[in-house]
Amino acid sequence: MPAKSTKTQNEVARFKEALEARNYKFTRPRRIIAEKVLSMRKHFTAEGLYNSLRKSKSISRATVYRTLALLAQLGFVEVHDFGKGRRFYEYVGGKKSHSHFICIKCGKIIEFPSDKIESIIQEAAAANSFIIKRFSINVYGLCGKCAQK
Ligand SMILES: [Zn+2]
Ligand SMILES: [Zn+2]
Repeated sequence: MPAKSTKTQNEVARFKEALEARNYKFTRPRRIIAEKVLSMRKHFTAEGLYNSLRKSKSISRATVYRTLALLAQLGFVEVHDFGKGRRFYEYVGGKKSHSHFICIKCGKIIEFPSDKIESIIQEAAAANSFIIKRFSINVYGLCGKCAQK
């Protein structure tokens, strides 16, 4: 296994602090799950994460789900519903804000920068004295490959 990057370790430390500030324990399984999640660059499912961890570490499915919920609650990951009941998680730290094109046929997820859309939303929010906590833009359709078929 490659050594964990300093950035990941910093993020894990941040997660530990956030947990402890809320009187949650930073347990060994939570650390292992956080190390994995906070180094991810792609969208992933809870089942996929569970499968990748259970081979080498004895971590229960329930712990994986609960820790993901904590990571989401504390703002480390975003939860996306990409349709068909498929729930994806995404580690958002250090990532440029972006939106998603989701292929309804093969499930491919394409990220695209959405700074312009976001500034429009920010302006609309300001005009309505609305405070945005989070938002996501997911656009459904057919990817280039599927459209050709
Ligand atoms: Zn497709
Ligand atoms: Zn994404």
